[in-house]
Amino acid sequence: MAIIQSPFQPLTLPETSLFSFIFSRENRPFPEDHKLFQDAATEKSYSYIEIKRMAIDFGKSLKAHFRWQKGDVVAMFAANSIDWPAVVLGTLWAGGVVSPANPGYTAKELAYQLRDNAARVIITQFRLIDTVREALNIAKISNVNILIIDDIEKSTYQIPHFTTIRNKDPSIEYHQAEINPKNDLAFLVYSSGTTGKPKGVKLSHYNVTSNISQLQPGDQENLTWNGSKTCGDIPLPNSDVCCGGDTVLACVPFFHIYGLTKTIINSLFIGATTIILSKFEIEKWCSLVQEHRITFSYIVPPIVLLLCKHPAVVSYDLSSIRMANSGAATLSQELITACLKRTGIRVKQGYGMTETCPTVFNQRWDMWNTPIGSTGQLLPNMEAKICLISDADSPTSESVPLPQGEIGELYVRGPNVFLGYHNNPAATSASLSSTGWYRTGDVGYIDPRGNFFITDRVKELIKYKGFQVAPAELEAHLLEHPFIVDCAIVGVYSHELETELPRAYVVPKRSPVKNSDIDERSILEWFNTGVANHKKLRGGVCFVDSIPRSTSGKTLRKVLKEWVKSERNLT
Ligand code: AMP
Repeated sequence: MAIIQSPFQPLTLPETSLFSFIFSRENRPFPEDHKLFQDAATEKSYSYIEIKRMAIDFGKSLKAHFRWQKGDVVAMFAANSIDWPAVVLGTLWAGGVVSPANPGYTAKELAYQLRDNAARVIITQFRLIDTVREALNIAKISNVNILIIDDIEKSTYQIPHFTTIRNKDPSIEYHQAEINPKNDLAFLVYSSGTTGKPKGVKLSHYNVTSNISQLQPGDQENLTWNGSKTCGDIPLPNSDVCCGGDTVLACVPFFHIYGLTKTIINSLFIGATTIILSKFEIEKWCSLVQEHRITFSYIVPPIVLLLCKHPAVVSYDLSSIRMANSGAATLSQELITACLKRTGIRVKQGYGMTETCPTVFNQRWDMWNTPIGSTGQLLPNMEAKICLISDADSPTSESVPLPQGEIGELYVRGPNVFLGYHNNPAATSASLSSTGWYRTGDVGYIDPRGNFFITDRVKELIKYKGFQVAPAELEAHLLEHPFIVDCAIVGVYSHELETELPRAYVVPKRSPVKNSDIDERSILEWFNTGVANHKKLRGGVCFVDSIPRSTSGKTLRKVLKEWVKSERNLT
């Protein structure tokens, strides 16, 4: 029986607000006029001190205009842009909580999140205003303030730009909010967890500052890359993680915990110059690497696939990249090796989730000690155990760990583990034990050196290109179809696309429905227009007589997975 401890020395973790962690930092290793964020398209950029000023101005505006209370929520519904850092940090300065949403959401999907997070302010882009208004209508919310983050010239008195709402009365002084770092929330990010619909994951200031600290290089590592070490002809970096000397290409979405923490918060903390790409395209990505001599990029497996397969990739000089870090979904050994062979880019992996803010395991750069395909070792101050697998919706217990090396479900504990689900004590107690163990819903094993290998997932979650798809949410939508009486959604893995695709098993209403009313094409057309792009039923629709259920009525997802495995034709 084994509880696995991190192989790294425990750290003394900061207990301060996230704003102070970044902007009141002693011995900051870069000057305050250091350029931090640059827009890939317009080349507009902000330095550290400019972001600090903009953030405080925005924080003061929140307090001055909106009868602001500590703990109030700002919803972010916008694509990546260089204005995100100031809005996020300004909200935190004012004691607020940032709740990001995918800008690809339909009005109905956004309404669900706004109803749950009770946001007081929504920050969005001019092009998304109609979706926001429709969402507010659906959610029957009237008392929300909308601010835009882009196109200042399109702002109006009713919909101002976030930089143009100013302190109404200059004689009133506003101060940075007092924060209790372990109890006060910094972020409320939505995730479906192990089961059910998306839920607000409560992440404290301490969760965020801990995970950033846990990922800093150790004392023995230099802070900047000088490319002096080599393995064969390939230079090895001095550090396993993104450092102050790096130029980072930010293409993962800021609304996801990965982009929010790695490319906004970590870049601000370490002083990495970060080029922001608002929409990922492989050729654009390659040309930016070449132009800016990018040294580090956070990526996801479908990008690795494109690096391996896209014909244009070979026309660019990508040699400046010392490291690419992949996370959020499964990445095969074959793809890592093929990417190295074709592009010279070494891809290492991290593993984590929204509930762990996010990183739990991180692969060391030395791939001879950290085998390819592994997600690496536990971060400092973390513990893990591998336990007997139980169903996703069975309650969590003080599960007993299996012997080291055996395959089972991963549980983790540490300072970055979330406080619970917003408005949902039942879901919290189903996944977070009273002693702080979080049940991840992921399955794998830990080798004798402490490297984690993820082999399966017991939770319902489907990941399309790193984006979360919650079966329960899609099933509820499918059941709105007048000719569907029952359904279940499951992920099917596409090796061609290196991602899971959501597939629906549906039980059609029998008579008096005509076949043409309910064929696969008509369901897909109807369904796919009502959901965000990543939730489309790319895995197809299969008609079945019944959905496999337990005696208590729960969908037997294991059986669905077996159906997928055997690819039985069920029509
Ligand atoms: P999210 O909360 O959206 O970050 O999703 C977290 C889930 O993504 C994890 O529980 C895993 O199922 C999956 N995931 C994250 N990192 C990896 C990885 N390196 N390899 C395989 N799956 C991963």
